Amino acid sequence: MKVSEVVTTKILDYTQDGLGIGKLENNEKMYPIFIPNVAIGDVVEVRLTKLNKSYGFGIVEKIKTYSKDRIKIDCPVYEKCGGCSLKHISYEAQLLWKKKAVSSIMKRIGGFNEEDYILDDVIKANNYNRYRNKAQYPIGKKEKNGIVKYIAGFYEKKSHKIVDMNDCMIEHKKNANILKVIKEHLKNEEISTYDESTKTGLIRHVIIRTGFYSDEIMVAIVVNAKNEKEVDMPSFLRLANKLKDVKNIASILINFNDKKNNVILGEGEKLLYGKQFITDRIGEYEYKLSLRSFYQVNPEQTVKLYNKAIELATLKKEDVVWDLYCGIGTITIFMADKVKEIYGVEVVKPAILNAIENAKINNIKNATFICGEAERLADSLKAPDVIVVDPPRKGMDEKLIDTILNTKAKKLIYISCNPSTFARDLKKLCEEKFTLKCVVPVDMFPNTTGIECIGLITRK
Ligand code: SAH
Repeated sequence: MKVSEVVTTKILDYTQDGLGIGKLENNEKMYPIFIPNVAIGDVVEVRLTKLNKSYGFGIVEKIKTYSKDRIKIDCPVYEKCGGCSLKHISYEAQLLWKKKAVSSIMKRIGGFNEEDYILDDVIKANNYNRYRNKAQYPIGKKEKNGIVKYIAGFYEKKSHKIVDMNDCMIEHKKNANILKVIKEHLKNEEISTYDESTKTGLIRHVIIRTGFYSDEIMVAIVVNAKNEKEVDMPSFLRLANKLKDVKNIASILINFNDKKNNVILGEGEKLLYGKQFITDRIGEYEYKLSLRSFYQVNPEQTVKLYNKAIELATLKKEDVVWDLYCGIGTITIFMADKVKEIYGVEVVKPAILNAIENAKINNIKNATFICGEAERLADSLKAPDVIVVDPPRKGMDEKLIDTILNTKAKKLIYISCNPSTFARDLKKLCEEKFTLKCVVPVDMFPNTTGIECIGLITRK
């Protein structure tokens, strides 16, 4: 076996990243080959691209037999783009893959066997296109034969090369036109774009957020600058003037981010048009959200996620609840009228300010919001009966896990968009004091390998 050789293999399984796994025989041992854009059941001719000691990689040259799970792809950049990786298989096959992925991570990282807890079927979505309310496009420039083209899109798989596109199928339909207006303006005014390798150039990202219920749209241009003094503000006002004619645009902002890392948003922002926030509705409640506040990206599934979390929490009128990593207070407000008191903790200041206002808008009087790190603040909160945590991808801090173990909370609901850190943290929580009862996967990210999980653990 050598690199560039073409071999034939059947796809037997998928990795956690959605790569297909084929197997070859090598010195009488089975040797796995990881291949993108294939489906279980495909028989493919594969060109070997990289061979390690115990596994290799390849790309498809020809599909000899098509898997029954395959469906027609409706996206022109799918094979290259790193946004979606499961679009070529049926939605039912995606859901089965996601459930299996959760089960295997829970076992491998958490040490939880399937018979030790209940793993529900994935809560599925009705919309698997056009479901995202937030898009963040890196912006770049390409030059060919002296003609400059501005490009925007997701990055290529495992790279930071932009795959140019006009209309992404998982994003809102209106984004295409907004991007077109922005690209035209950048071209007309010959504005530079940020180059990650040299860390120079101005325009970094465009963020478009849409309230699916309110129809309000927020557009933010992220620039590589410290503040407005470093940019040509009249040019951005001219852009805002063109954008405001797009129907339903409620907020246009410029965000300043001169940090040379991968974090998308900086801390400074300036309003170019409209208001500093947009409003939206989840279930019965209305929420205000600012640019830097986190907001779940799939509105259809968010309602199901929150309702499931509430169902699992079996809240009582006399309960004191902590909602740690509360964002703009969405879960806090969903739970407030079912309990005695609820505390929301969140580190991003604009988000906690939204949360305080959101409680007022929804006439919630028993919620208290505190800005700061959950691991630092939890100690000082009133003793809880129930705890909800919804941390970012990196999971919970050790210190917070210790604090939680030392409370008398009867149960904890863990919501997570990263099954690996979810399994790791649950393992620590369940060493002595808690038992894992169930895990409910929720498909917040159809067509991608992303999967959200809710876990319920109860005190032994
Ligand atoms: N539960 C909310 C937000 C979940 S996202 C919702 O459903 O919308 C995770 C949130 O944790 C983000 O708002 C992020 O800003 C916040 N966060 C990140 N690190 C934190 C920390 N150490 N302490 C408190 N909040 C944190």
